[in-house]
Amino acid sequence: ATRIFSGIQPSGGLTLGNYLGALKRFVQAQDAGTETIYCIVDLHAITVWQDPAKLRHATRELAAGFIAAGIDPARSILFNQSQVPAHAELAWIFNCVARMGWLKRMTQFKDKAGKNAENASVGLFAYPALMAADILAYHATHVPVGEDQKQHLELTRDIAAKFNHDFGVEFFPIVEPVIEGAATRVMSLRDGTKKMSKSDPSDMSRINLTDDADTIAQKLRKARTDPDPLPDSLDGLAERPEARNLVNIYAALADMTPEAVVTQYAGQGFGTFKPALADLAVEKLAPINAEMSRLMQDVTEIDRILGAGAARANAIAQPILEQCYDIVGLVRSR
Ligand code: ATP
Ligand code: MG
Repeated sequence: ATRIFSGIQPSGGLTLGNYLGALKRFVQAQDAGTETIYCIVDLHAITVWQDPAKLRHATRELAAGFIAAGIDPARSILFNQSQVPAHAELAWIFNCVARMGWLKRMTQFKDKAGKNAENASVGLFAYPALMAADILAYHATHVPVGEDQKQHLELTRDIAAKFNHDFGVEFFPIVEPVIEGAATRVMSLRDGTKKMSKSDPSDMSRINLTDDADTIAQKLRKARTDPDPLPDSLDGLAERPEARNLVNIYAALADMTPEAVVTQYAGQGFGTFKPALADLAVEKLAPINAEMSRLMQDVTEIDRILGAGAARANAIAQPILEQCYDIVGLVRSR
């Protein structure tokens, strides 16, 4: 049976990239009737230092974002990672399965650690082993993520395969990445070669789901572009990453193909295209924004939802963890 798992870090506010690359597709999977488990990965967030009060706020706001975007906590399991111990426990097993050389190749570590990798946390280095645990603790079969997580998913497959091989079992499934759609990689508004991130120091680089209409319009107006009008085919955008990014965002928001967008706006300049994109973004994001604010007025209710989700998640993950311990030869006598 298909079981979908995916997660988002409470490392800041949700961005348009998270919405188009992740949330929107999470809702589609849920609405298609698939079993869906969505996790606010707070243990991942602390691989770089987080202010505790901000982390608490971001966790609740992210939960509100999931629900406002259309995740129904009755149909999907929605919870925060640290409330289900199997994630951290299975991650330890996988730290012992994964090889240093595999993790050293991870581009996200290189990007996030920057020049001074000696100073990065051990957790940031081991991040992909925890991500493998998130997925495999549920025997999830499909993982919808943005393009940036592809390498980590390949590592998850490698870890599952090595575990199965080392212990002569067929215990962990080999997961399928689900990376599709016009905007599985939304780029920064300031630099068309860098992905949009909630942790980017520049707020102008991204659109946040909490931005109001004026802010969205202003950020898009100031988004970096070139002076040329839009071409009549996508080939004409090959060397224009910033322009291509805005076309992709438009396409994803409007549920159109990027080809259809350039056909519609062929020959038009950004003076026309940017305001049209701003209107579309406001139209799609304003209802989510309003619902998030409403939900954030009652954090007790949000915490209750996360607790109930964690109990359901635990009921799936704990027996899988116990079986895994047994396979490894760890004595369980409780
Ligand atoms: P951080 O900067 O802290 O890593 P992030 O914005 O990259 O934050 P994550 O929590 O790491 O967000 O990722 C959550 C989900 O959003 C993942 O599925 C990831 O692939 C997706 N995602 C993140 N950024 C983008 C983007 N720019 N375009 C499309 N999908 C994205
Ligand atoms: Mg990220």
